[in-house]
Amino acid sequence: MSDMKIIKNWDYKDEYEAHSKEILDLVDKVFSSGRLILGRRVEEFEKAFSSYCGVDFGVGVNSGTDALFLALKVLGIGIGDEVITVSNTAVPTIAAIRAAGATPVFVDVEEDTFLMDATKIESAVTSKTKCIMPVHLFGQPVSMDPLVDIAKRHGLKVVEDCAQATGALYKGRKVGSFGEIGAFSFYPTKILGAYGDGGMAVTSDKCLYERLMRLRFYGIEKEYYSEEEGYNSRLDEIQAALLNFKLKSLDEAVLKRRKIAEIYSKELSSVGDIEIPVIRDDRTHQFYLYTIKTSYRGALMTYLRENEIEARINYPTPVHLMRGYRFLGYREGDLPVTERLAGRILSLPIYQGLSVDGIEKVVSSVRNFFKK
Ligand SMILES: *Cc1c(COP(=O)(O)O)cnc(C)c1O
Repeated sequence: MSDMKIIKNWDYKDEYEAHSKEILDLVDKVFSSGRLILGRRVEEFEKAFSSYCGVDFGVGVNSGTDALFLALKVLGIGIGDEVITVSNTAVPTIAAIRAAGATPVFVDVEEDTFLMDATKIESAVTSKTKCIMPVHLFGQPVSMDPLVDIAKRHGLKVVEDCAQATGALYKGRKVGSFGEIGAFSFYPTKILGAYGDGGMAVTSDKCLYERLMRLRFYGIEKEYYSEEEGYNSRLDEIQAALLNFKLKSLDEAVLKRRKIAEIYSKELSSVGDIEIPVIRDDRTHQFYLYTIKTSYRGALMTYLRENEIEARINYPTPVHLMRGYRFLGYREGDLPVTERLAGRILSLPIYQGLSVDGIEKVVSSVRNFFKK
């Protein structure tokens, strides 16, 4: 079994092969420039990315988790405050809330889209609630109109976890532009992935922007003098240069993802008991992940892996049931839809460089499994 034949869940190698000259050239320019962290390239990328998101300002940080954490900090959310979010997400959403000292309060999700169920938010609001943190999971935006409406009525802040949905539109507007702050991740597997770690917090509020700029650098504005207690969360020049380069072809890369998703959905919609991803009419899906539902999930995953297709479960255990978060006090049965989904979901390989042969192999393997 050669490694070459395995269809990975995600792979960046053909991207690197196709663009290695430009990439190495950019790295060389950074190394020769004499400035490695928080320089001109970070500034350029902050401008380009915030403008891509349709907001005024961007602050490059060390990761998506830090973008969420710093967003909560500058909004004054911390110990004793509750943040309404979902358990059906990647752990970092919750890690960021806890890093700020706040308490996550989970609401259940919609069975068809996997996304935060806006109709469940209001009953979760208490006198301690300060913020709603929607997660635009797998690449599709949460229903932002009802969410923002609830936030306004109760005087809550909104911090969007956009880590999986860079560029996605809800009613024609990009994610990250609905709340006070939008947080993005440039972790290599993400829609816009760096060649290392990176993240960004975006906002149109100048005051929040200025504080985010300070907090990522020990609270310093003028040399060696801290205006307020801060942290170290910086984006480096290499990642910024590479991200700025990749941003130019981001929409094209997403079109490729959508094309693959379209083929999967067309070919698999009437196979076995598979339910293909649902996309609401008023928004776009970036297909960070292509996730199906089936009651034969375990057997299908084993079969695909035997056939050298790296199918994955995102995510096998909801955060509220993980040992690391048991102290929050949730129990099995508290979030029935989230828990039911965890037993039925399976993500098929999707990334812009996935070959036609690879796509066909995934489709025929899934079909073969259900023929048996
Ligand atoms: C990846 C991810 C994050 C965190 O991003 P990092 O850059 O890895 O810190 C946060 N939320 C979600 C939903 C993610 O998928």
